[in-house]
Amino acid sequence: MEKNIVVMKFGGTSVGSIEKINNVAQKAIKSKKESNNVVITVSAMGDTTDDLIDLASRISKNPPRREMDMLLSTGEQVSIALLAIAIAEKGEKAVSLTGYQAGILTDDIFSDAKILTIKKDRIFSEFNKGNIVIVAGFQGITGNNDITTLGRGGSDTTAVAIAAALDAKYCEIFTDVDGVFTTDPNVVSNARKINMLSYDEMLELASSGTKVLHLRAVEFAKNHGVIIHVRSSFNNNEGTWIMDTESLNEKMEQAVVAGVSYDTNQVKVSVFGIPDKPGVAAKLFGELAKANINIDMIVQNVGEKGIAAISFTIKNEDLKVGKKVVEELKQNLEITNVEIDTEIAKISIVGAGMKSHSGVAATMFSTLGDNGINIEMISTSPIIISCVIREDKVKEAVKLLHDVFELGK
Ligand code: ASP
Ligand code: MG
Repeated sequence: MEKNIVVMKFGGTSVGSIEKINNVAQKAIKSKKESNNVVITVSAMGDTTDDLIDLASRISKNPPRREMDMLLSTGEQVSIALLAIAIAEKGEKAVSLTGYQAGILTDDIFSDAKILTIKKDRIFSEFNKGNIVIVAGFQGITGNNDITTLGRGGSDTTAVAIAAALDAKYCEIFTDVDGVFTTDPNVVSNARKINMLSYDEMLELASSGTKVLHLRAVEFAKNHGVIIHVRSSFNNNEGTWIMDTESLNEKMEQAVVAGVSYDTNQVKVSVFGIPDKPGVAAKLFGELAKANINIDMIVQNVGEKGIAAISFTIKNEDLKVGKKVVEELKQNLEITNVEIDTEIAKISIVGAGMKSHSGVAATMFSTLGDNGINIEMISTSPIIISCVIREDKVKEAVKLLHDVFELGK
């Protein structure tokens, strides 16, 4: 009889010590005994990746990206080997595989590579030998046999991609929290674990500041229909299930608002004095795009006397380059003045039920307004509404919105 295939992923904190690695080994063996073929993907132990980056930065401000991938991929190689040793010590069969050995082929964008395909034969032949298969997360190999990494947090993507390739029942992401919460439990004490989310809700939550899953992993899961279960590696509680809307609709009614997220890693750039005529926005944002800068929100005011102002938000880490691009355009676009504001934050509410409920935005705006929180920018799409506010108000705003949409326990 064909056995079920399950993919389990454990993050850095879940394999942060020998004790924790032994705990993962136990979970893997338990899953195998439940007559599953098991693939385990792990991250590097604890802060290993950061420590490796730190080592390189003590030599160079601008290390070659290929060599960074060579360096960072070693972190996961340590944890897969230790986990295989731990499983063997408990009397079960296991084999560890690097990204290369597991057949994970990527493009050649070092430090941000995308998985192209996974050659499955090695994993299947290890299943046939009765092995639990442990695959290094976060890494792959180019057509030229160079080692690549998938971007920080990329082990989630490895796990989902393997689950898609093997047509696994689901992909379990074990982490240090119980699942995806209605908001950050460090900010709101009665934040609640969400039982189920659609891919789109999870995508919006992840891109608006909820840090449980790698964004690309969710995109991959959505495109390939991989069911994700995010749960704690430190208990046996059910976590959060993430799947497509149709499967969800069969199980439950969609929440109007599923969660509140926030992002303080944002800067607002305002340019003043630009001519209010066709092609100006295209030029400005075209140049920013060429510099690989992702723009989040954009507001253009009503032009007066043919002169307009545009404000937009970008990530903190893009500020240096973004500023340079705008400065270089100053003359060409007749910009009179550029203002940078780092004291902003974005707060968002996400929920698939918003599509069929009116007044959600009005409730959000009046809740902020009634409490003296000024809204500086707004953006909406079918299942998310975001506002830019002062950074020092963001925690208060999160609490207010979490309350008003009755998301607490
Ligand atoms: N170890 C890598 C990182 O810290 C990949 C991961 O943890 O998912 O980014
Ligand atoms: Mg991680």
